[in-house]
Amino acid sequence: MEKEWILNHLSPKEYKHNLFVLDEEFQWNLEHIQYAIDTCVGVDSNIPIIFCDPCQANDMVSLYGEEENIIPFYVSGLYWREVGAIFIFHYEDYTTTIRTIFHELRHMQQDQDDNFRLHFHTDKALPYEKRITEIDAYKWEKIYLEKAYELQLL
Ligand SMILES: [Zn+2]
Repeated sequence: MEKEWILNHLSPKEYKHNLFVLDEEFQWNLEHIQYAIDTCVGVDSNIPIIFCDPCQANDMVSLYGEEENIIPFYVSGLYWREVGAIFIFHYEDYTTTIRTIFHELRHMQQDQDDNFRLHFHTDKALPYEKRITEIDAYKWEKIYLEKAYELQLL
């Protein structure tokens, strides 16, 4: 999903770099979030990270021309491969917000890795806790989070 498309179609309440906020209630500083991403994950990517609710995510995906998903209410974030965007649904708590972003960015990194990408397909046959993509994402989420604590960003 391209930045231009988002700005033209979604009129975000606020945005900075590739972070987009659709929710009026969103209360965190995007500059701080971007800094945590840059210093802890160090990922070089243009993938949009969109803060919204699951219905809004489905609406925009459908507007974008992709098929909608069933997103259970407990899901706090989603790396939507077909759309090329990360959606963050739970952001009441700052640490949870950062943790979820780290987790979903790790899924994006997995997808960029030619040797790892196949696990997205093979994982579909496995229960959630056995999925290679999830085990790896939780491992890296923890590493990135420890860095954030070390740098006193949390
Ligand atoms: Zn995951």
